[in-house]
Amino acid sequence: MSEQTAKTDVFIALGTNVGDREANLNLAIDALGRLMEVTGKSRLYQSAPMYVTDQPAFLNMAVKGRTSLSAEDLLTGLKDLEEEIGRRPTFRNGPRVIDLDILYYGKDRIDTERLSVPHLRIAERGFVLYPLNDLDPQWQDVRSGKTIAEMVQELGPDEGLEVLS
Ligand code: AMP
Repeated sequence: MSEQTAKTDVFIALGTNVGDREANLNLAIDALGRLMEVTGKSRLYQSAPMYVTDQPAFLNMAVKGRTSLSAEDLLTGLKDLEEEIGRRPTFRNGPRVIDLDILYYGKDRIDTERLSVPHLRIAERGFVLYPLNDLDPQWQDVRSGKTIAEMVQELGPDEGLEVLS
């Protein structure tokens, strides 16, 4: 790839609550290197499951990177990685070996059938906002105009969230 290729800043959320959760995260972060230059990793968090609460706790992280892929191709790449690492389709918000979501793709707003960017539920999810805050508290959310730090402050403490390292 040429040095001149324009790259876009991206933030990816990772979650897992099946099997060796730390190994799943490490595998995924290594594999993300095929889709982007990974420039930052958040701390490691454990979170109580939201929505469907009768399932094991999740481990969560977020990573920041720079990619020359389009948002659509990045999503396709993430879905391939999920499958490769062992995720099999279950039910919505149910247990998963690895879940990879695009949180931000530069300052783009994308609202298609396949893709909502910025991710629609960032503001309500401590397990997404706190890792994002590790990476870039001054990043501005293009939907709300708020910074990550402001969104964290609005969400307040998250009792279900624990920093592991
Ligand atoms: P999930 O079960 O969380 O992996 O999400 C299922 C579907 O959400 C995916 O197959 C995508 O088509 C769609 N989707 C919409 N917006 C996003 C996004 N920002 N990142 C990842 N998946 C998304």
